[in-house]
Amino acid sequence: MSVLRPGDTVGILGGGQLAQMMALTARPLGLRFAVLDPDPAAPAMAVADHREVGALDDVAAAERLAAMSNVVTLDTEHVPASLLEVVARQTPVRPGPSVLGIIQDRARQREFLARCGLPQTVNAPVGSLDELEGALNGVGAPAVLKTRRSGYDGKGQCRIDGADDAAAAWSAIGEQPAVLEGFVDFDRELSVLLARDIRGAVSYYPIAENVHRRHILHTTCAPARVTDSIARQAREIAATIAEQLEHVGVIAVELFLTRDQELLVNEIAPRTHNSGHFTWGSCHTSQFEQHVRAVCGWPLGDASQQQAAVMVNLLGDLWLNGPPDFSGLLQEPGARLHLYGKREARQGRKMGHLVLTGRDGQAELERAERLVAGLSPARA
Ligand code: AMP
Repeated sequence: MSVLRPGDTVGILGGGQLAQMMALTARPLGLRFAVLDPDPAAPAMAVADHREVGALDDVAAAERLAAMSNVVTLDTEHVPASLLEVVARQTPVRPGPSVLGIIQDRARQREFLARCGLPQTVNAPVGSLDELEGALNGVGAPAVLKTRRSGYDGKGQCRIDGADDAAAAWSAIGEQPAVLEGFVDFDRELSVLLARDIRGAVSYYPIAENVHRRHILHTTCAPARVTDSIARQAREIAATIAEQLEHVGVIAVELFLTRDQELLVNEIAPRTHNSGHFTWGSCHTSQFEQHVRAVCGWPLGDASQQQAAVMVNLLGDLWLNGPPDFSGLLQEPGARLHLYGKREARQGRKMGHLVLTGRDGQAELERAERLVAGLSPARA
């Protein structure tokens, strides 16, 4: 099991905001970063020591990244597992190709959860409109049809309210292999973030409570308002997943808490996660530094939280009439503004986030929502 030393280089497949925050927070540990992304202006490129411009399925580009790295990790699960296998012959890859092979295919993820005996909504894989119509009989309506691969933030998803919607839904997701899932009438959405090191030691962050809008994460509040028993069950589910996958690094497990107080796994992200952004500024060790420590083979840091925290995503919608004026927000006590430096704002695109810390998560949440709702375009 190789362990890195200060001065060594961490290679990251994907140069989005997660890679950017890994490089920013782990640089004080004396590490260097190499980033591969198709976009030379991707957020992590500006903070990387080495930049490799290339597609995430470009084996030659990934091999060049690996050649200058002592370990390779990722900021997205949408990297072909077969490419990771090639890279792993040259340089340790953490998390390993087998983790990605399971996670990046929704149907395999569902099978894995079933094999582990973990609770999830009723579901069935479908490969054609005929199969979808058959699956609807078993799963029932309402249901959600999701592509097996490459979906995120609600992309590649379509709700089905009855058999009459099947053909339109099949066409809406591009007639691709998919999974049909029973719609969950949840009370809350939670996520568990934990890190697992190369020896199998696990460190947990406080459970996060999430609100999505248009299928995109809107706010996170941590710690979540749940009983000790729910928190314990949620952590046990996430720990089982991390152990069974033999995962190394941070992993996020998104859960539905039903009105009957039952936990159901929605999905697994084998990487740092948007719902863990609150850890930077409210926990001793952020999820980004923690992930880097784990993949370097180093001991995990103290994940305990010093203050309650909330996070609000800043989407491209706020930029539609020009860049917002952040001067009020910059003066707000306990506020941490993070802008990712993306040049182009689009509706629904994550441009940055705000974290507020304080004593009472709910009060901070209201304050954060008020601040973001009050943002107006900066005057020229
Ligand atoms: P996903 O990309 O699968 O995490 O879905 C994004 C969001 O859509 C989730 O966080 C939920 O708010 C909603 N969603 C996804 N699947 C379901 C489901 N089976 N039942 C109810 N809501 C869902």
